[in-house]
Amino acid sequence: MTVLSTARRALDSGPVCDNCLGRLVADRSFGLSNDERGRSLRIAVALADDEEFDPPEEPCWVCEDECERFEWWAEQATAAVHGYEFDTYQVGTKVPPLLEENDRLLREDAGLDPEAGELLKSECNREVGKRLGEMTGTTVDFERPDLLVLCDLATDEVEAQVNSAFVYGRYRKLERDVPQTEWPCRECNGTGLDQGSHCDGCDGTGYRYDTSVEQETVPIVEDAMNGDSGTFHGAGREDVDALMLGSGRPFVIEIDEPRKRSIDTDAVQERINEVADGRVEVEGLRLATHDMVERVKELDASKTYRMDVEFAETVDSEAFEGALAELESATVEQETPQRVSHRRAAKTRVRSVYEASGELNGERHATVEIHGEGGLYVKELVSSDDGRTEPSLAGLLGVDAEVTALDVLEVRGEDEPFEQPAFFRDDSGDGDEE
Ligand SMILES: [Zn+2]
Ligand SMILES: [Zn+2]
Repeated sequence: MTVLSTARRALDSGPVCDNCLGRLVADRSFGLSNDERGRSLRIAVALADDEEFDPPEEPCWVCEDECERFEWWAEQATAAVHGYEFDTYQVGTKVPPLLEENDRLLREDAGLDPEAGELLKSECNREVGKRLGEMTGTTVDFERPDLLVLCDLATDEVEAQVNSAFVYGRYRKLERDVPQTEWPCRECNGTGLDQGSHCDGCDGTGYRYDTSVEQETVPIVEDAMNGDSGTFHGAGREDVDALMLGSGRPFVIEIDEPRKRSIDTDAVQERINEVADGRVEVEGLRLATHDMVERVKELDASKTYRMDVEFAETVDSEAFEGALAELESATVEQETPQRVSHRRAAKTRVRSVYEASGELNGERHATVEIHGEGGLYVKELVSSDDGRTEPSLAGLLGVDAEVTALDVLEVRGEDEPFEQPAFFRDDSGDGDEE
């Protein structure tokens, strides 16, 4: 069937607008809009049949003149997203079943497949989207737009959905007893109240610890982006009582419903460091994309720890040096430590120790540095966890040993995830508390 006879049959079905007519052959002749295609067909039919050219005066039976409202919808969409900074968008259209059915009937009348050409929904998305882009100076993005706009043709309502914004950085934790994320008081469930009065467990604060890396960072980013809430995603986590030193640990902060996206990250970093006052420090803060959350969470970098170790009995330096030499380059088998077994399924982990060194300070004290594979439980590497970690420093010495202080000196191997996206996967599925 020729294009001309298709057009003739469509025109015979009733008053049809140029857009609905042109959509039937939207896959033909690039560089034309559907209304141009429709108008051309109408002219071609008039010429071929030597009839008077008559554009329809009655409303289009297919779209009920919805195709004349693209400008109006774009204005509604622009109003709906007012107050939100964005660079990219996507428009969706909810087409009432009746109009979808009309689109199908027109194709049937014209002798075409039910899905031939382009459907009303997709023309609305494109035409409204194009106008929204022109009105706001932004561009369409089908992957991960800053915001989505949904036009509901049945109710004349526009709904805007704002996607989160992200910053990436690295943190150092310079004081002990600071958890990575906020830790509500267990006794009062974070309310700060105990049977209506002041909770003694947290001194009425609702938190088990005074602050956290999250509390020192998220509110400031949230404030800068004027968002509704924020989430802290760390690349693993150290123990509450461990320091995080060296070049710090990677993290991403996610802000929901941001009204501002292009923030001055240097100024925000400066503000964080000023307010955190030496408890926490942030460096390398910059804008990031949503995929950085997964990349940071899956990061399983090698780490270097420094530990203060206390022995139950006297240890001589020869035995101590010998045990460290054994541990260096050792492959360690670790059953899930007793201290975390309540929240993890029991299984055996195999991890490597890359380097082990240390120094005895007195007969029963030592400082030990371990550079190990991501996921290595280092406290248990020292204590043996009642024989559940093999080999261990305590096991090799035949003397009970305990870590009394632990610091993370380095989270290594992935320096800047922006530049070096090749990570190892962490099979444990979440962060490690060393
Ligand atoms: Zn129409
Ligand atoms: Zn409490």
